[in-house]
Amino acid sequence: MADSLDGRVVMITGGSTGIGRAAALCCAREGARLVIADIDEAEAANTLDQVKTAGAEGRFVRCDVSQGDQVRAVVASVAEHEGRLDAAFNNAGIESDWASTTRCTEENFDRTIAINLKGVWLCMRDQIAQMLRQGGGGSIVNTASVAGLVGSRGGCAYVASKHGVVGLTKTAALEFAPKGVRVNAVCPGVIETPMVERMIESTKLEREAFERQEPIGRLGQPREIGEAVTWLLSDASSFVTGVAMPVDGGFVAV
Ligand code: NAD
Repeated sequence: MADSLDGRVVMITGGSTGIGRAAALCCAREGARLVIADIDEAEAANTLDQVKTAGAEGRFVRCDVSQGDQVRAVVASVAEHEGRLDAAFNNAGIESDWASTTRCTEENFDRTIAINLKGVWLCMRDQIAQMLRQGGGGSIVNTASVAGLVGSRGGCAYVASKHGVVGLTKTAALEFAPKGVRVNAVCPGVIETPMVERMIESTKLEREAFERQEPIGRLGQPREIGEAVTWLLSDASSFVTGVAMPVDGGFVAV
């Protein structure tokens, strides 16, 4: 990539597995210094081993993104240890219990919103404040979903959370464009990660049913999202802000 992330400090939430891990590896290849914020320390160690093999540096900070004090502590720790925060990928999320509008429980709704939506806002709040304090702008990418762009039967809480992420992204993009902080969202289609493996298991649907949702005829690979995220985080996308970019094998083109 022409405008690499060489030496840039990048914070990734949900970087222990799946899309977050793949994005960490793509950023590592571009020379980024990584901070993985997640609740799963064991899997984070695997991510960091692979980051090291790719020739980059990284460290883990335990953080539940739904807890404001924990998010604040991670960003403060980045400011103290790495000295600055250049970019962030707010990606931590849960699939939630798949349930329709009439069957979704209040507990499921609250938990999904707390992690998938409030977690993104909490992260952006402290990350943008840090970027403004240090000067020089920054780039943030939030993980929404194709479920942030279109409805999905039975996905009440998840779809609401991901549409919310798109709204937060556009709003922060407008607010901080004049200050040089760009904010975008990536909207993955169905990607082969532990999350989707769990969904295949819990819905008892055949894997082919998930593949058929993708016009391209297969599930996406985490690396295919990681590449798009790396581009959005880097200066190669310097005129792009406020977009919710589908990376979805044609899912929302139907
Ligand atoms: P995954 O389950 O493999 O990874 C999720 C990561 O988030 C894990 O490392 C997990 O430990 C972490 N996490 C969960 N709750 C957390 C919390 N409260 N605080 C901090 N970390 C937490 O799933 P994935 O498929 O890689 O999903 C990553 C993101 O992509 C999610 O936001 C998900 O909604 C979104 N997404 C996934 C797909 C897909 O098909 N896999 C499609 C669209 C959007």
